[in-house]
Amino acid sequence: MKKIDPNAVTVKKALCPFCSYGCDFGVVFDDFGIKGVEYIKTGSSEGRLCPRGSAAAIYLDHPRRLSTPLKKGKFVDWSKMSKELSKIIGSPKSIAFTVDRNVTPEEYSAIVGFCKKIGIDDIASTYFEPDAHLVPFMAEPFSMTEMEGTQLVIVLGDPFNYAPMSSRAIIDWKLSNKKNRLVVIDSVNTHTAGFADRFLRVNIGTEPLLLLALANEEYKDIDVAEMTGIDASAIKEISSAIRDAAKGLIFACLSFGRTYDPVLIAESLARLHEFSGMKVVPFVEFAAYYGTQNFATLVEKAKKKKIKYLLNFGELFPFHYPQIMTDFKAVNIYATSTFKYNDHNLLPVPLALEKKGSVITTFGKKKLSGNIEPPSGAKPIVDILNMLSSGYGEAKTTTASKPKLDVQNRLRNLAERAIPRRKNIRLIGEEIAYNFMGFFEPETLKMHPVDAVELGITAHDTVSVSSRHGSVDLAVKLTRDVGKGVVAVAAETPAVRGLFDYEYDNDTKGVNFIPTEVKICRKE
Ligand code: SF4
Repeated sequence: MKKIDPNAVTVKKALCPFCSYGCDFGVVFDDFGIKGVEYIKTGSSEGRLCPRGSAAAIYLDHPRRLSTPLKKGKFVDWSKMSKELSKIIGSPKSIAFTVDRNVTPEEYSAIVGFCKKIGIDDIASTYFEPDAHLVPFMAEPFSMTEMEGTQLVIVLGDPFNYAPMSSRAIIDWKLSNKKNRLVVIDSVNTHTAGFADRFLRVNIGTEPLLLLALANEEYKDIDVAEMTGIDASAIKEISSAIRDAAKGLIFACLSFGRTYDPVLIAESLARLHEFSGMKVVPFVEFAAYYGTQNFATLVEKAKKKKIKYLLNFGELFPFHYPQIMTDFKAVNIYATSTFKYNDHNLLPVPLALEKKGSVITTFGKKKLSGNIEPPSGAKPIVDILNMLSSGYGEAKTTTASKPKLDVQNRLRNLAERAIPRRKNIRLIGEEIAYNFMGFFEPETLKMHPVDAVELGITAHDTVSVSSRHGSVDLAVKLTRDVGKGVVAVAAETPAVRGLFDYEYDNDTKGVNFIPTEVKICRKE
């Protein structure tokens, strides 16, 4: 029998997959299992890790990790699940394959190859986070050396929370030369904004209007200053600074439930790049795949009962988008998962932390070591595909077609929605690193003190937040970081994310979760 040595520890190197910064770190094991994380001085993040990366040990060893297939909350063995799936793929035109997060590029190629061999035509993305629209900017990897000689950095969003390890590089750059100028665009006052030379605090969802105005583009019947809340002289001055800067960069990150039109944001960033020559550097949670089909097309097919089954590879769909299931009532869902949920049919898979392969980061492709053992019943995606049919090979991945955008029309639509007609409070999402997956702290609701007085709410009260999709109780934090008429929450858990409204994009047929009208009542 093996003798337990309480002092013996092993450190296994890993790559943090929780954002595109791609930090190296170590997972510490002792004879009882996972003990914690270790900061690796020689790694890309120089011995530092953000709260999300530090949560890796909690995630790997979480009591809700899934290790056997589940059918509506009940354990089934792999052979039974395999028989069921084999029968389903026998009718390939009635099944769609979808893909979200926690899938490596190698696994995605295998999925596409499998579909080709079996005759499954519909492959769509179920990664509905707005940062999916920033992925095209990742085609050219970024290097921190590109910050040398940069005089102006425009930041869209909050990288200090989104990819927290970027903060040191941004702060070091800012302090390295008094003339270096940091301009932050956001609708919420954040830590990143607090460090800016100029904080352009825009009205909710109006970022594309400001970005296009900074690119010196003008559109009929749209008063940018009125819509965005940014003074026309400030827009003119910063647009000139962008044009005149010898070297500049644009960092961009987008939060769930924060924008009405992420497609237009991506287009506006591309136009600002064209205007200024400044490179757009995105920080994303995951470099999403596009599929061969648009998600809205799958929904139409499902409504006509042409698609009866859906097999999702990833970790978000459908659990983190519960409201969307109203469009899939007649579809039988199978989904890979790292966590236990009581709905649908679940297939346990390893976390990216436990996989061998690669991951796309802001700095290019990085390797996943596969050093860490997944739970015993978890099957890698490639093993699941092999279990259903072997000899399919990998396939070149194709993408759904990209339509030409009518920017003027989209701006008009945005202008109509960005200024609310009713006095209802709007809920927006934000990214807070220490709220990751709700592992450290539950989500709280940020509210402006004036709204709190009107609603009879005091600091730390618990309130019920209700949208047309459901209701969640949250503790309130009073702060002027959010504007009046707006409440913000870190949308990390399915319950909170399930409050948000969603829309199908008319041009791209993708899905976007938008700022959402809510009712807020104090709990007794
Ligand atoms: S910055 Fe990103 S990659 Fe680095 S530890 Fe945090 S979540 Fe992980």
